[in-house]
Amino acid sequence: MKQSFYDLNHSDLEMVLNQNDLNQSAAAILFNWHYKKKENAQCYEKIAKNSLVFFQNNFDFSLPKIDTVHESKDRTVKFLFKLKDNHKIETVLIPFHNKYSICLSSQVGCAMNCSFCSTGRQGLKRNLTTSEIVGQFLKAWRWLAKNRPGEERILNIVFMGQGEPLHNFDAVKKACEIFISKHGTSIGIQKITISTAGYIPGLKRWSQEIPGVNLALSLHSPFEEKRNELMPINKIYPLDEVLTYVDMIPLNKKQFITYEYLLIKDLNDSPDDAKKLATILADKVPI
Ligand code: SF4
Repeated sequence: MKQSFYDLNHSDLEMVLNQNDLNQSAAAILFNWHYKKKENAQCYEKIAKNSLVFFQNNFDFSLPKIDTVHESKDRTVKFLFKLKDNHKIETVLIPFHNKYSICLSSQVGCAMNCSFCSTGRQGLKRNLTTSEIVGQFLKAWRWLAKNRPGEERILNIVFMGQGEPLHNFDAVKKACEIFISKHGTSIGIQKITISTAGYIPGLKRWSQEIPGVNLALSLHSPFEEKRNELMPINKIYPLDEVLTYVDMIPLNKKQFITYEYLLIKDLNDSPDDAKKLATILADKVPI
């Protein structure tokens, strides 16, 4: 089976060209064609014929297929993508002033098993590849270009769809590298946010390997016992440890951490929950 072109970041592409005695300048041209111009046709810009033939023969340029599209009255667009092995994943375009944020999935199913989440109840089926992550973005962009011309501006990327992104770190990291590449979509690093349930091994890699990408930490309860019930990962990485670790991470200029809280009636919405939450977040609110 051919490797997907969309699994390569810019340096991978340069390395492939180098290893095959091809001109490295083709990397920037191909990246520009497929990510900046977002073309799906074969690249016909100034590129050596032997490089073009090499990529045609050795790489797969296909992307996940759109299975269904659901448009809401508020112009939110929900895509169900069908992957090559027939698994399905969701992607959402969230509008703001004729621009969009995109919510990407990172896994089929999820190992975190949060009690309020239908994806969690499926268990982890598999990780998405980088091409399947980047493919959600490219296909959603092309859908906008065709169906809402002039509005194909996806300015924010949030990894808040199916899966725990930090549990599929390598593929998510490479997708971020492709998104921020100046040869490609050139999305500002501060426009990307990764959501986590508090998976500490992934948090460590996030802080070291993709500094600048924002974090959204799902809390859902300030109490360890209640959080154990809602988010079983808390039994392995308790909230207290996660918050201590996150507090120690030096943030870049314009980088931020948000704390997410899903209000569930009669479960985590009491005055005691609110008071405890206020206590643990007291030193985290910007003045
Ligand atoms: S981490 Fe996210 S996707 Fe996974 S089970 Fe929890 S809420 Fe669902």
